[in-house]
Amino acid sequence: MGPVDPLALTVAVEAGAVTEAVHEHCKPYGLTWPVDFASKGSSTVGGNIATNAGGVRVIRYGLTRNWVLGLTVVLMDGTILRMNGSLEKNNTGIDLRQVFIGSEGILGVITETVLKLTTLPRDREVFLFGLSDLGSVFELFEAARKSGMVVNAFECFSQDCLEQVLALRNLSAPFASPCAQYVLLEVERAEGSTVQERLEHWLTGLMESGLVKDAVLAQSEKEAANLWAMREGISESLAHLGLLHKHDISLPIHRLKEFIEVWTRDIDLNYPGLKPYIFGHIGDGNLHVNLMKPESMSVPEFKALCKKADEGMFAWIRKFEGSVSAEHGIGMLKRHLLAYSRSEDEIRLMRQMKQVFDPKGLLNPGKVLPE
Ligand SMILES: Cc1cc2nc3c(=O)[nH]c(=O)nc-3n(C[C@H](O)[C@H](O)[C@H](O)COP(=O)(O)OP(=O)(O)OC[C@H]3O[C@@H](n4cnc5c(N)ncnc54)[C@H](O)[C@@H]3O)c2cc1C
Repeated sequence: MGPVDPLALTVAVEAGAVTEAVHEHCKPYGLTWPVDFASKGSSTVGGNIATNAGGVRVIRYGLTRNWVLGLTVVLMDGTILRMNGSLEKNNTGIDLRQVFIGSEGILGVITETVLKLTTLPRDREVFLFGLSDLGSVFELFEAARKSGMVVNAFECFSQDCLEQVLALRNLSAPFASPCAQYVLLEVERAEGSTVQERLEHWLTGLMESGLVKDAVLAQSEKEAANLWAMREGISESLAHLGLLHKHDISLPIHRLKEFIEVWTRDIDLNYPGLKPYIFGHIGDGNLHVNLMKPESMSVPEFKALCKKADEGMFAWIRKFEGSVSAEHGIGMLKRHLLAYSRSEDEIRLMRQMKQVFDPKGLLNPGKVLPE
């Protein structure tokens, strides 16, 4: 890794640098590269850029794309493209750098990059709210956005999801009585007692208005980590429970509630054996939707039912102008779904670009583009 530039807020690194190592490298300067998720200890900057990775604080910082200034890419004919250096502004025609970010390695091999940095976030305040229905989740989201606080994360999960985490990790329930929905809200800690008072006033107002059934504000970093564990443990606890059919989708935020309602109604009515679990980054319009195999059902029967249920779900996603993959990409498994989110014209142009950069189709064959 190159030296951190504390004036320009940049660092040049090779594509193989591990994400967490970049964080550690920048920390002594009070800076960070704000691409952050559970696999940061093993993922590489090149992989993050190739997948335009998201993470838990997209609502605050946006996607990886926002944090890449320069990119060096080697093409299949040996051409080395050095794009944009460390320029923040460069309005000189088509920004080729953006074509490679998120292209899942099908156009060229990223070898080096200049990353844009930001100051390390201040300490955090972490709330957990219990709510009686889905509508309240979205009202709370609006209230959080209007509150003037800097929102780092707004995550939502159902009682069904929470129950699995509590059981697997042997944790106590956060509130005396269960709630239909939970929201984990992380905001940046504001300085000064007046601001702190405003935060407490905001919380009291929410409780008094009846919008939230119950709430807790972490009083220490340990408590904050414990609240986060309830959200971060969901994937692992569901995987532990049985065979899961899962998707990582996104929708315009104003369609999320309607989507969740129509999808769960469809599953309840037409696939009564399958249990839906929904959680996700509500603040980014990103849902993790899951169906669990009942113990008594055979794997082939489960897969056939999920395939059928997916057709209905993807039709809704297309209708609501959502995406079949919010952050995990298309890879090989979702190629057949691309047309639900991208038009024929877009797919045709993607094919033409592949032809320009990799005419022999040698880079990541079989990925992204439908057969
Ligand atoms: C526990 C866990 C949590 C995760 N959480 C999130 C999350 O919250 N948000 C999110 O967006 N993602 C998440 N991911 C997925 C995440 O995007 C990837 O793990 C990471 O960004 C990919 O980096 P990698 O180095 O592991 O790449 P790999 O998995 O090795 O590669 C990913 C793709 O990029 C290509 N690629 C890799 N390096 C290059 C390169 N130098 N040049 C060109 N192409 C390249 C590969 O060919 C492949 O197609 C998570 C993954 C795990 C395992």
